[in-house]
Amino acid sequence: MASRLFLQIPCAAKRFLTFNPVLRAAQCTMGTLKGIPTDDEQATGLERRALQAFKKGQDPYSILKPKEYAGTKEDPHIVPCIGTKRLVGCVCEEDNTAIVWFWVHEGNPQRCPSCGSYYKLIHTQLPQ
Ligand SMILES: [Zn+2]
Repeated sequence: MASRLFLQIPCAAKRFLTFNPVLRAAQCTMGTLKGIPTDDEQATGLERRALQAFKKGQDPYSILKPKEYAGTKEDPHIVPCIGTKRLVGCVCEEDNTAIVWFWVHEGNPQRCPSCGSYYKLIHTQLPQ
């Protein structure tokens, strides 16, 4: 009786694997793929464009933390922009709860009206 049951289990398992469509689909995908795809292989749309820009050393969508600048006339805060002006918020002191908002226009560096830090608008282009 026990030997008969033992002999029937492999047949039952084989039948289950053959006729179960979910397991058969899983066996097909595991057999055709060459491992887990990377982010570069499976990214699409905006995420793909951002990853390609990162490889070139660019950050067109301001995803990464911005570089720190002194805010002086010689080393102004860089404001990337695709137009000719951009609204900038300056937290003048580290523990300020109010933000000073002002427009930075293309051209010479401009000063924050409250603390006097310099901001310079740099024209950038979004990746195609
Ligand atoms: Zn300020």
